[in-house]
Amino acid sequence: MQATDQTMKEQVQTLWTSKRPLIISGPCSAETESQMLETAQRLAATGKVDMLRAGIWKPRTRPGMFEGIGVKGLPWLLQAKKITGLPTTVEVATAKQVEDALSFDVDVLWIGARTTVNPFSVQEVADALRGVDIPVLIKNPINPDLELWTGAVERVQKAGIKQVGLIHRGFSSYGNSEYRNAPMWHLAIEMKRRNPDLPIICDPSHISGRRDILQAVSQKSVDLDYDGLMIESHIDPDNAWSDAKQQITPERLAEMLNDIVWRKEDV
Ligand code: PEP
Ligand code: MN
Repeated sequence: MQATDQTMKEQVQTLWTSKRPLIISGPCSAETESQMLETAQRLAATGKVDMLRAGIWKPRTRPGMFEGIGVKGLPWLLQAKKITGLPTTVEVATAKQVEDALSFDVDVLWIGARTTVNPFSVQEVADALRGVDIPVLIKNPINPDLELWTGAVERVQKAGIKQVGLIHRGFSSYGNSEYRNAPMWHLAIEMKRRNPDLPIICDPSHISGRRDILQAVSQKSVDLDYDGLMIESHIDPDNAWSDAKQQITPERLAEMLNDIVWRKEDV
């Protein structure tokens, strides 16, 4: 299935404004062409996914780990879109990454938690987006600071981006906890209260950091009336090059989405 640029824009517009829940899935990182294409095809085969995600540039907290395949992965993602008919989203953190993503027709951009904390980086991304008509999702900053999250939303909006959405991926804290990033649901609820017109999507993968609580975290966000989910998936989760513990197969994702109790208006 191949959509023209215009029909894909319309498809994204419809998803953005009216597909609830909006389901985004794909690998933490694009690793190889075959991994990207097989993941995309198996996700599309479930019939439950609206948009493909893939990390192309990975902001690793510590050096020495896989830092993303880089621009080389963008044609794979474009190919995945052509094969499945699903729009794509990637994380961008610099002006060059925005330029590269746009040149490979990425449909939605997202700003990651380690970028939202840095006003210089957010401003650089926002400036690169001036005059571009594309939806942008903004993850909460890694620290529990609603002003930084709000500031990132404002910078992107001031650059002229009309479709801005929020992604709640939890907040880091020192020490061991049940979660990789504590959800602190009240903060996301407060952010939504301040921005009632922005869709809010839950990222249970980075909140949980592990597979066994993904469903419970997803269910909680559904119960709180979130607009969608972004969940990491991989054809071979245990051997993923990043975030191996939290990724699930496309088929497991489909089962999980089936088991979630959705709001009446969504089913
Ligand atoms: C990711 O989505 O893979 C990612 C790096 O997420 P976050 O910015 O939430 O840590
Ligand atoms: Mn990840």
